Amino acid sequence: MSFDTARRMEALPFSGIRVMMERANRMQREGKDIIHMEIGRPDFDTPEVIKKAAFSSLEKGNVFYTSNYGTPELRAAIAEKLTRENGIDYSPSEVLVTIGVGEGTYAAIAAFCNEGDEILVPNPVWLNYIHVPNFFKVVPVAYDLLEENDYQIDAEEIRSKITDKTRMMVINSPGNPTGAVQTRETLEKLAALAEEYNLIVISDEIYEKLVYGDTKHVSFASLPGMKERTITLNGFSKCYSMTGWRLGYAAAPESMIQGMVRVHQYINTCASSFVQEAGITALREAEPDVQVMVKEYERRRNYTVKELNSMDGVSCRMPGGAFYIFVNIKELGKTSAEVADYLLDHAHVATVPGTAFGEGGEGYIRLSYATAYEQIVEAMSRMRKAFAELKA
Ligand code: PMP
Repeated sequence: MSFDTARRMEALPFSGIRVMMERANRMQREGKDIIHMEIGRPDFDTPEVIKKAAFSSLEKGNVFYTSNYGTPELRAAIAEKLTRENGIDYSPSEVLVTIGVGEGTYAAIAAFCNEGDEILVPNPVWLNYIHVPNFFKVVPVAYDLLEENDYQIDAEEIRSKITDKTRMMVINSPGNPTGAVQTRETLEKLAALAEEYNLIVISDEIYEKLVYGDTKHVSFASLPGMKERTITLNGFSKCYSMTGWRLGYAAAPESMIQGMVRVHQYINTCASSFVQEAGITALREAEPDVQVMVKEYERRRNYTVKELNSMDGVSCRMPGGAFYIFVNIKELGKTSAEVADYLLDHAHVATVPGTAFGEGGEGYIRLSYATAYEQIVEAMSRMRKAFAELKA
């Protein structure tokens, strides 16, 4: 016997990244030597100081529900962090502790968009920003991130897409899947539009600390007048290598937090008690560990970009942040899905077709360099050979 899913589930397909990952894992179980460059998760262990804080929290018996909003101590540590590092003056009452940015996204859209409202989202994008709106019958309206613009957001294009139904704009910088970091100048233009059209802005800053060279991360809510209309989403998954801990937060005016917490309380009640306590340690004590990871990512990025740009038929921009490279494969004359399949079958290198991030990803594949340096070296050698064979 089987039951049909509810009609609203049509808006929630399985993710293209997962599909690729599962295929790669199956091949690995069959004994193939697969190199994983498809996964958007750090390969580092969580810093020891954070793990110790969780152990000791459990030992102390910190095993009960916390406030729906998160513990007062973690909310205070997050507000302090946002003031210290991001230059935005938040109080603890303007912070909601979430189960990752994934939940923050859902709560923000559920709480502030009506059916038929429009939400401006990047293309290509982390697909939650398409599927979550669809689930609530909110209409995602794509704006393009183009390679020729260095993946900077074009404010004039955004203006041309604003209607009287536009309610929200999503900005993700540093961005997945392009690795692009939006400049202050770009963000200032978007701030002017947000003001002019009275938009709520979701600023997904989950990769904020993963920026390289001279690149600087600017928090959207730190721009004049933007705090009142911005929901800053951030979390511990990427920068602290804590993807499995499921901890994140939203920072926004208190009235918006009051809306989001009502969604949160009926799904999760609260984030895990001892994970929240470890989160405080992450914010206050793990910066040296983060910087070690950032340095290593930068080394991998520099190497991988140089290698890719010396191969036949492919090219890429130097991304300023995150741990992704969006590789242009147009010269190969195949779709991005065909190229990703070809690399997995012939080179045993797993990547993600750009189309897993929306139509704007056609002609690209995404590589993640959150994989050991030696593995990347081997992957580059296999890819060089595979592309040469494809062109021959
Ligand atoms: N936002 C972006 C842009 C992401 O790429 C990801 C993870 N792939 C997330 C949010 C999810 O973060 P979390 O683990 O905090 O739910």
